[in-house]
Amino acid sequence: MGEFELIRRYFAPMAKATKPALDGSGLLLGVGDDCAIQRVPANQDLVFSVDTLVEGVHFPLGYCPRFLGWRALAVAVSDLAAMGAQPVCFTLALTLPAADEAWLEGFAAGLAEAGQQFGIVLAGGDTTRGPLTLSLQVHGTVPQGQALRRDGAREGDLVCVSGQLGDAGAALEFLYDTAPATDAASLLQRYHCPQPRLELGIALRSMASAAIDISDGLHADLLHILRASGVGATIDLAALPLSPALRRIKGGAAAGFALQSGDDYELCVTVPEQRWAAASRELQQQLTVIGQVQQEPGLRLNADAGMVYSQRPGFDHFSIT
Ligand code: ADP
Ligand code: MG
Repeated sequence: MGEFELIRRYFAPMAKATKPALDGSGLLLGVGDDCAIQRVPANQDLVFSVDTLVEGVHFPLGYCPRFLGWRALAVAVSDLAAMGAQPVCFTLALTLPAADEAWLEGFAAGLAEAGQQFGIVLAGGDTTRGPLTLSLQVHGTVPQGQALRRDGAREGDLVCVSGQLGDAGAALEFLYDTAPATDAASLLQRYHCPQPRLELGIALRSMASAAIDISDGLHADLLHILRASGVGATIDLAALPLSPALRRIKGGAAAGFALQSGDDYELCVTVPEQRWAAASRELQQQLTVIGQVQQEPGLRLNADAGMVYSQRPGFDHFSIT
C-alpha cells in the first residue's frame, strides 16, 4: 500500500464522515488539495496549537492503536479547551514504520471516534515513513478577545480544578495488566480515553481570569499560570479532588501523588472571588476550589500531618535529575 492509497483508505473517509456535521464551522476545503482552507468569522480569533507524540516517550511501545487515535486527538484538543476555544479542524502529520493495515484501522477508528465526540474535523496532513510519531495541529475559534490565557491570575483569585486528579498517572503501573481489578480498570479508562473539558472551557470564558490544562501535573502546570501572571498561590493538599479508586490504591500518598502526576487533562483555572458564587452555581460542581492566589511568587502547600508528598514539579523532557 502506497502513501496515497493509505490516505485514501484510512484518512479521507474520516474527513468526509465528520464534515456534514460541521458544515458552517468554517472549514471550506479539507483533505485532497495542497492546503486546507479555513474561514474565520470577522468577530472571532483563531486559536491554534500543535502537539507531538513520540512512541516510547508519550505512549508505550506497542500501545493499542485505537486508544492512541483517541488519546492523540484528546490531548491536542485539551489545549483548545484550556483557551475556551470551540474546536473547528485539525491536521495530522503521521510518521509510520510500516503501512500495517490492522494498526491503521484501529488508529483511524479511535481518531474518528474522538473527532466525532469533540466536534473537530480532519482537514489534512502529511504521511511519512520512520519511527512512530504523530503531530496534530488543532484549530479552534473564540469570540474576539475572550480566549482564556495563563497570564490573567490576580491576587485573591480562587484556584480551582475540574474533575479528579491523579487517576491517569496512577494507571501507568497497570498498563500491561491483562486482567486489571475494578479500581485499576477505572484508572486505566482515564489514561486511555482522556476527556478534554471543552464545554467547561467555553463556559469559563466569562468567569476565569487564567486557565491551563493539566498535562504535566497540577504542581508544574499551576506554576505556569503563576509565573505568567507574576503571582504566587497557596493550595490545600487535602482539598484536591480524588477518586475513590485512587484513594484506595494510594492511601495517604494519594493527594501528594495527584499533585505531581500528569495525563489527566483536567483544567486548572483561577476565578476572581466576586465571581465565584455565580460561577459555582452555573457550573454545578464541575470545579473544586483548592487554594488562593497571593502576591508573593511561588507555590506553597498546606498539608496535614501524615500526608506524603514531594516538592518536585511534574514532567519536563529536558530536565536533568
Ligand atoms: P503535498 O505533497 O502537497 O504536501 P501530500 O501528498 O502530502 O500533499 O498529501 C496529499 C493530500 O492528502 C493533502 O491534502 C494532505 O493534506 C492529505 N494528507 C496527507 N497525509 C494525511 C493524513 N495522515 N491525514 C489526513 N490527510 C492527509
Ligand atoms: Mg506532504
